[in-house]
Amino acid sequence: MNITWLTQGGFLFQSGSTRVVVDPYLSDCVERRQGLTRLVEPPLSVEELQPDAMVCTHDHMDHFDPQTIPRFAALYPNCLFLGPASVRRHLHEISIAQDRVLPFDVGRRVKIEQFSLSAMPAFHSNTDAIGLVIETGGQKIYLTGDTELTSQLLDAAKAMINDHGVDLLLVCINGKWGNMNIEDAVRLAEVIQPGLAVPMHYGLFAENTVEPVDFIEQCRKNEINAICLHIGREVQLSELLRGVES
Ligand SMILES: [Zn+2]
Repeated sequence: MNITWLTQGGFLFQSGSTRVVVDPYLSDCVERRQGLTRLVEPPLSVEELQPDAMVCTHDHMDHFDPQTIPRFAALYPNCLFLGPASVRRHLHEISIAQDRVLPFDVGRRVKIEQFSLSAMPAFHSNTDAIGLVIETGGQKIYLTGDTELTSQLLDAAKAMINDHGVDLLLVCINGKWGNMNIEDAVRLAEVIQPGLAVPMHYGLFAENTVEPVDFIEQCRKNEINAICLHIGREVQLSELLRGVES
């Protein structure tokens, strides 16, 4: 599986020829409506992303980009859109055809070609927000989405790792507006014991960012492998995992 970080909580996952994009924020609608200026340009365009499916974890503009989603829908007529109820309502409002929208609430599992996607609970200001487990080719990723660290989240994480441990944890660290801070993110990583932990949801807006190096250092102190991804650089998960083993 290949992974490309798109900044904030956005990622492109590719396995074989299948591409799933999660929470792509490619416009400047947050700046126009909420005054938060982008620090970095989107690394990939709608034309380059070519998704077979898009997951929006919740209906906030840095995850559900109402300016960009109609462009995806028009350019990729076979692309499916997945999300919890609030996301599906918003997709309906911006005229995305109902037959392209799949329910993806907590507990749901959806197959997209060789990907198996499972919706995990998240505890955010948007009450039906989800996290996501992505499985393909025997590899498993847990992407927290935007969430606070709660006892229910820890319980759900423990239940999720019961059958097969997590190879890669993608965890929010910005510590603001309903999200875990670095200490919380490290605590979650300690419970999950992933092959590799990668921080996310920082560096996009000056008003809502933290220094990820503190996360990396605290993980390493706790004997958890951790690295930062480069925005827009495609990496192979197996290579990342091999890199931390050697
Ligand atoms: Zn967010």
